[in-house]
Amino acid sequence: MFKSFALFSAVVISFLGSSVSAMDEVEFGKLLLPGKITVTNPFLDSCDSKVECGRFYKLLHAGIDYRARTPTKVTSPVEGIVVKMEYGGKVYSPQKDRSGTIMIKTKGEKPMYFMFLHMSKSFVKAGDKVQIGCVVGLTGKKGTIFPHLHVEYKEIPSGSYRRPTPSLKTVAEIKKRGNISPTEAVLNTEPAVPTGHTCVTGS
Ligand SMILES: [Zn+2]
Repeated sequence: MFKSFALFSAVVISFLGSSVSAMDEVEFGKLLLPGKITVTNPFLDSCDSKVECGRFYKLLHAGIDYRARTPTKVTSPVEGIVVKMEYGGKVYSPQKDRSGTIMIKTKGEKPMYFMFLHMSKSFVKAGDKVQIGCVVGLTGKKGTIFPHLHVEYKEIPSGSYRRPTPSLKTVAEIKKRGNISPTEAVLNTEPAVPTGHTCVTGS
């Protein structure tokens, strides 16, 4: 039994690529939050676009929800820069939108945008450089009923078009499309060991 499982794992890993290993939503959560990780609403990736999926697009949960009391420190899983968010023709500084969003853009040709929603406090502002494992802010319930952390990761090729969050479980598919996956974005940087210190502010 174990032998066949190991073989299966090896096949999966070689299929996904040399530097990419599977990372599930709980493992990913450990890079963001302290303590026990509980997924309260997983990522539902049935559709790629509204055009493709019509009304079912609304069923998409474009991120992962984690249980988190207010206030819980949220650490960045990646190295990047804090950016303003464009939504509905408006531009918002971190946590100033209706949903309390903090957005981090990773380095590279095809950057990923990591978004933390419902935050009650931001320790960073647009332009700040963020290191892996530093605390970007505190969880809350801004724009929602129950306190939790909603995390999304997207590519935003242009100002208006947003590709829905790729699932952590469809790395192979994402690679086929030629886009970097969130798993790669995390693994391509230095080991993500949460350090817990507040991200240095000041641009
Ligand atoms: Zn959510």
